[in-house]
Amino acid sequence: MPKIVAIDRGNNHLLDEIELETRAGIKSNSVQKFLQSVKKNNADIVCSCIDETSRLTIAHLPNNKDKFTIKRRSHYQHSEECIFHAMRNLAYDEDKDQYRPVIFKEPKVPKKKEHRSYIDSEEKVKRYTYRHFCIDSFSKAISKVFNIKNKHEDEDIIHPVEMYSTQEYFKALTSVFLESTMANGKNPFEVMPAGSHLSYGITRASLDEITEGVIILEEYHTRDEAFRELHVEISDHRLQVTQKLQKNMGNVLAGPYAYIAVYTRDYADRKIVRLYTYAIEEVGDTFSFIESGLEREYAREILDQNIAFIKPITGHEYETVANKQYANDERPDLKFRPDYIEYRDEGVCIVEVCGYPDDEKYMRALEVKEKHYKSLEENGKIAKYLRCTKH
Ligand SMILES: [Zn+2]
Repeated sequence: MPKIVAIDRGNNHLLDEIELETRAGIKSNSVQKFLQSVKKNNADIVCSCIDETSRLTIAHLPNNKDKFTIKRRSHYQHSEECIFHAMRNLAYDEDKDQYRPVIFKEPKVPKKKEHRSYIDSEEKVKRYTYRHFCIDSFSKAISKVFNIKNKHEDEDIIHPVEMYSTQEYFKALTSVFLESTMANGKNPFEVMPAGSHLSYGITRASLDEITEGVIILEEYHTRDEAFRELHVEISDHRLQVTQKLQKNMGNVLAGPYAYIAVYTRDYADRKIVRLYTYAIEEVGDTFSFIESGLEREYAREILDQNIAFIKPITGHEYETVANKQYANDERPDLKFRPDYIEYRDEGVCIVEVCGYPDDEKYMRALEVKEKHYKSLEENGKIAKYLRCTKH
């Protein structure tokens, strides 16, 4: 996951760092606290996307002096995936902090050869911004369905935390779309280009197994709150793009996936314009998002045991779920995004699933996280920290 790193202005030493997946994350408490401390220490912040030298600027939000935002500095380069890329404003209104409808449009084909590289960059920025839109939407739906499922009339009684069903999740995702505002003031359904359709649900074939240009989607339908099978054309190029958008530590995970797609409808023919997939593990009528093969095994275990949990995909979920497991002021700040936050009989447990034990950089980062979680455990802020390694 992309990171923002705080460094000492004098000697360039690393002071602190925080993960930041999408621009929505800047508003989260954890990132705001991080920025506050950077300001206080008079440190610099850099983006980790290219080589940890792309300096960024912290600015006050114009309408709220207590909140910070992050701006790029024009002479530093960022990767096309990065939320601070110079062309990002084409696809994301940076003043309003809202996505632009253009992320759902079919890519332009360059007329002249010399326009090619500009259009290529523009298209890459749009498709990565579409990815950010999908991640934000999946993430908001996790908090939303969790809060709906665990809201009780009798708030004085402590109820055990319950897991939601797959169908309840996609119903919540529908509400997330209806409640989101794009840069032109409309919701994602309202800004679909003519003849295009916003589709979401589950797809079961692994991306590397799809041949003959057809993907089978199990599309969620709001009217009857059910999934319906649908065959949609997908080009090899679009399939490759989808694989690239999904890549985790260089790997494309096997299906099933939760998906958000845009397809065009032309009589009977449907053709994928945009497709974002996030690997999931399903058990019975519920599921978990997963980021590695080992997480798939681990998710299966806790779903089988009927343990309620949050699988954070942006890190924003933890702050936005309401639950009585901690008294409000006792909920500890998490500096990192754990793999799982579980609500077990003994209390709240944090789990890291050690998915890439051979990757040195990954393991070093894991050790830093573990130090933080273990201190929360020692101080009684969480019941337990657990590391899951290969079975
Ligand atoms: Zn960057």
